[in-house]
Amino acid sequence: MSTTPRDMANTYVSLIPVWLRYAALLVIIHSSAEAKIITTTKTETPLRSVRVLIGSNVKLFKVRSTDSLTFENTAGDILHQAAPHQWMSIRARQGVIEIDDVVYDAQEVIVQSSQIAPIELSKYKNRKWQDVISYPGSMRCSLSDTGHINIVNHVDVESYVAGVVAREVWPTFAKQAYRAQAIIARSFVLRQMQRRQSKSWDVTDGQGSQVYAGLREDRTGRRAIQATKYTEGIVCIYDDGKQSQIIRTYYSAACGGMTQSAAIFGAEDDIAPLAGGVACDYCRIAPGNTYRWEPVRLTKHEIFRRIVARYDSLRSLGTLRDLSIVQRSAQGRPVTIRLRGKDDQHHDMLVEQFRLAIGGNQLRSSDFRMRVSGETVIFDNGRGFGHGLGLCQWGMEGQAREGKSAAEILRYYFPGSRLQRAY
Ligand SMILES: [Zn+2]
Repeated sequence: MSTTPRDMANTYVSLIPVWLRYAALLVIIHSSAEAKIITTTKTETPLRSVRVLIGSNVKLFKVRSTDSLTFENTAGDILHQAAPHQWMSIRARQGVIEIDDVVYDAQEVIVQSSQIAPIELSKYKNRKWQDVISYPGSMRCSLSDTGHINIVNHVDVESYVAGVVAREVWPTFAKQAYRAQAIIARSFVLRQMQRRQSKSWDVTDGQGSQVYAGLREDRTGRRAIQATKYTEGIVCIYDDGKQSQIIRTYYSAACGGMTQSAAIFGAEDDIAPLAGGVACDYCRIAPGNTYRWEPVRLTKHEIFRRIVARYDSLRSLGTLRDLSIVQRSAQGRPVTIRLRGKDDQHHDMLVEQFRLAIGGNQLRSSDFRMRVSGETVIFDNGRGFGHGLGLCQWGMEGQAREGKSAAEILRYYFPGSRLQRAY
């Protein structure tokens, strides 16, 4: 479900500084098949907070809480206060922020509830107020490059993980699948936090990172909280003999038969647990067009139209004369596709980027056979849903249904990894 190649293709960033800081806090754990996943003495650590971009270039939004809300500038001065249940609108106009139509000389405002109640938020979009979402933690609202507002939710990691689990699992998934999902959601975000310290946010709230929409208060939300509490602080670790690192625990809906290598997306991910080649037939239980997908037929003209809609610079190809797979992974999945345009021009791109430009719900994975017939391109033998790296979510569920524990499932999809408490 998560992590697009845009995110994955990001450059290699050293993870040592923060890692060293909490390497000392790590306590070796035992991953047992059932009972407790981990037994450990808990180490006192400060509550770690993740910064999630929940709105970019937002023109107008409103917030409220069951507690009173305060609006502070970055110096800590209280600019504005709102009574419990009172909606307050926020927008940017001419380089400053307005709260409830009052102009403040501030380019950044921090919204917090006076107690611990979540902050409810609704954005005004397409001429109407969108669904209200409840977020734990606080909000940092800053002027964006376009003169509107970026909203960043500062939330403790465990609450964030529960929010991700609630959106990334299928509600019917088994308990051990929820727990495995909590561990990979936590590992993934802690890894992102290590590499984005200099930026103003660690992750987005969509599939480029992990899907997150604050608190979810139904049964799935409650099960997600239970799984998060049960696995509190536990992450997937890899030791290469020199140092330990938290694994960037990629995952996707269904691998279609074999997991893929992450190495093509950068040296940082060229580690044994992400090498791919894990055979998985467990995801055949996935419903609908997931384990295998139906052939897709598109004209070259339509493919070119969709590609340039996403990558404007490729307009210079002029047209799409032909396309071919020029590189495959060790597992045989297409990795690089060559687009040929006019005058012998060509452009090579990752097939993951290509398929997302075409439409990730139509070309459901990059694992396909491609045939060109005149002006028509046929994609068939489609296997799996998503990028196929790391953990296979339907495979995780398949294994959980067969009685495997979360720890066993994670060792299966990330060979050579182990579980450890990060805090
Ligand atoms: Zn699978």
